[in-house]
Amino acid sequence: MAIKRIATFTSGGDAQGMNSTVRSVVRTGLDRGLEVYAIYEGYQGMVDGGDRIRKMDWDSVGGILQGGGTIIGTARCERFRQREGRLVAAKNLIERGIEGLIVIGGDGSLTGANLFRQEWPSLVAELSQNGEITPEQAEAYPNMLIVGLVGSIDNDFFGTDMTIGTDSALHRITEAVDAISSTAASHQRTFVVKVMGRNCGYLAMMGALACGADWVLIPENPPDVDDWREVMAERLKAGREAGRRDSIVILAEGARDRDGNYIGSSDVAKALEENLGEDVRVTVLGHVQRGGRPSAFDRNLGTLLGYEAVNAIIEAKPEDEPLQVGFKGNRTVRLPLMQCVDQTHAVAEAVEAKDYKRAMELRSSSFTDAYRTLKTMVRAIPHSPDPDQKRLRIGILNAGAPAPGMNTASRAATRLGLDKGHIMLGIYNGFEGMAENEVEELNWMSMGGWASMGGSGLGTSRLVPKGKDLYAIARTIEVNQIDALLVIGGWNAYEAAYKLFDERANFPAFEIPTICLPASINNNLPGSELSIGADTALNSIVNAVDKIKQSAVATRRCFVVEVMGHWCGYLALLGGLATGAERVYMHEEGVTLSDLQQDVDNLSQGFRSGKKLGLMIRNEYANNIYTTGFMCALFEEEGRDLFDVRPAILGHQQQGGDPSPFDRIQATRLARLCLDYLIEECGKSSSRSAFIGLEEGKYGYHDMRDFQRMVDLEYNRPKEQWWLALRDVASLLAKPGPEVASE
Ligand code: ADP
Repeated sequence: MAIKRIATFTSGGDAQGMNSTVRSVVRTGLDRGLEVYAIYEGYQGMVDGGDRIRKMDWDSVGGILQGGGTIIGTARCERFRQREGRLVAAKNLIERGIEGLIVIGGDGSLTGANLFRQEWPSLVAELSQNGEITPEQAEAYPNMLIVGLVGSIDNDFFGTDMTIGTDSALHRITEAVDAISSTAASHQRTFVVKVMGRNCGYLAMMGALACGADWVLIPENPPDVDDWREVMAERLKAGREAGRRDSIVILAEGARDRDGNYIGSSDVAKALEENLGEDVRVTVLGHVQRGGRPSAFDRNLGTLLGYEAVNAIIEAKPEDEPLQVGFKGNRTVRLPLMQCVDQTHAVAEAVEAKDYKRAMELRSSSFTDAYRTLKTMVRAIPHSPDPDQKRLRIGILNAGAPAPGMNTASRAATRLGLDKGHIMLGIYNGFEGMAENEVEELNWMSMGGWASMGGSGLGTSRLVPKGKDLYAIARTIEVNQIDALLVIGGWNAYEAAYKLFDERANFPAFEIPTICLPASINNNLPGSELSIGADTALNSIVNAVDKIKQSAVATRRCFVVEVMGHWCGYLALLGGLATGAERVYMHEEGVTLSDLQQDVDNLSQGFRSGKKLGLMIRNEYANNIYTTGFMCALFEEEGRDLFDVRPAILGHQQQGGDPSPFDRIQATRLARLCLDYLIEECGKSSSRSAFIGLEEGKYGYHDMRDFQRMVDLEYNRPKEQWWLALRDVASLLAKPGPEVASE
């Protein structure tokens, strides 16, 4: 028999993005015809019963996307750890006819949920024996269906690339460390920054990678020497001597030494003071990491996981084991909860048993790779080149429109290349600069501070070379003896790189391995599901729309927000999903007059029934006749006295800003892979060229030849766009509910 009534709750430590998860569970559930309850204050509410278990409607979760924390409260509940507490909880659920639970919480909460499910039949039997439930009730609720979603800033859970809240916590960490770096650099100071993460070093490691920190201490991989304090101080001193103006050490709260003793921030500070002979400041970031508005990623992650959790619970058979819905390679995945809980505990046990090799193995390969990269990035000077190796001369340039993260990628590629003994050449101002021979050899400190800097320090241009540019570029390659080329950029960069590739027969100089690294806020590049800069732009959109929404509190107003993307609707759709827009217009779907007629009718009906805010998001090239101005005029005219309309064209703020943590991390990873590719190809007798990217969670290279085959050349976007599959969830959540949605 189909499930009819479910409940959801948030438990344990709160995390940003829990609200979007609850909103998505409630609305998807209602849309699918379920009755949905929220249990306030986690397991405590389940044990307390009464009005802590409340029926939700469409509007009960309106207006909550932008808030941190969780509107239904969370708690830690000692009673639920005891069988007696779980018995009362089971009774409360049965009395309300709840047949399934969607649990949003961390390690502890999901472990508790798993146990609850295993025990369920015995709890029911006991309640029935004691006469607390009727035999009919006992028969009607033989099992409790459970789906777990990981809400935790620690990213410490198996079975998901990211847990809900981690990305926002990384935002808080990068904001703080960027701010600390600027004051530290002014005074040439050393700072120790302690971050959260319990037994998991993810936040510390990725925070360090994203901010260009100089040392990191994590639980999974303690320093491998006893005199680690002296080694750390020595390395930091060497960094200063090499020209760094500050030293930043990031310490994970669970970091330990080889003997398993926790490393405290004052311990690190004292060691550095003694060895460096200077004042060392400590900043313990603490709960700010849990707070604040959720990032665009966390909002969308919660929304997608919540949607899939409801689908999973509807499809489950009564006897099914609990499931966990996670996120892998931009897609939701279902896994047995038990397996995820066990694997998660295995890492903690390995750390406890001081088996650090195993702890690292149990973390994902991207975790280990990031650690390896970080070890190179924090060096004061690169390894000396091997006397027998061929030192390649690798050129780096930025091309196309600027995208946040270009600098991070340039810096990472430069350092990683130098560390492998190669000569790195900065080519300024894109292919235009290349034609003018604007080339300079880069050193380890050339890009100090670039990890967190927006824009393009190397300079960029949109030139796609032709005619005499090609001769000039070939000459630059010859004069500088460039062996390989890394092109970091967007559509024009890809076109330009393809052009050089295509002209190989005419210009032998172009017979060098070339690789394109996707960097464009538009996210319109082939071979990569995400390009560097798109996440930062999405966050800029979300921040702007949050403010726009607040400005409309007391008025009945509809906003038409125009976002960038050229002909690619990625920013519009994902921005709409993250802000709760009721309508997204994009070129891929087109816009027709009858659509607009329908939208006007929906708006009028909504405002007539008490709605206060309308939010439409429009991709800049959605339709060149039905422009933003046209749409505003149409809605205004048709809205008459019911509502007024305002356009908000977000413009170039979307291209600027410091790169988001995600863009920085991606930029670093991709830069490493690009270098590996170029170095490998240079060793071959006939080399290839490619563009790199991340698809379904895997990094890969596409031969440059495939560029034209994979794209729509009329509308400058890939033929396949994975994210179009998210339209279903976006339109479901945007529907006016039974009583008309408030957002
Ligand atoms: P988180 O879910 O963030 O890891 P906690 O570890 O504090 O947070 O767990 C939250 C709640 O989940 C606990 O207060 C308790 O009610 C419940 N819980 C945790 N571990 C267990 C367990 N082993 N058995 C039963 N309930 C548990």
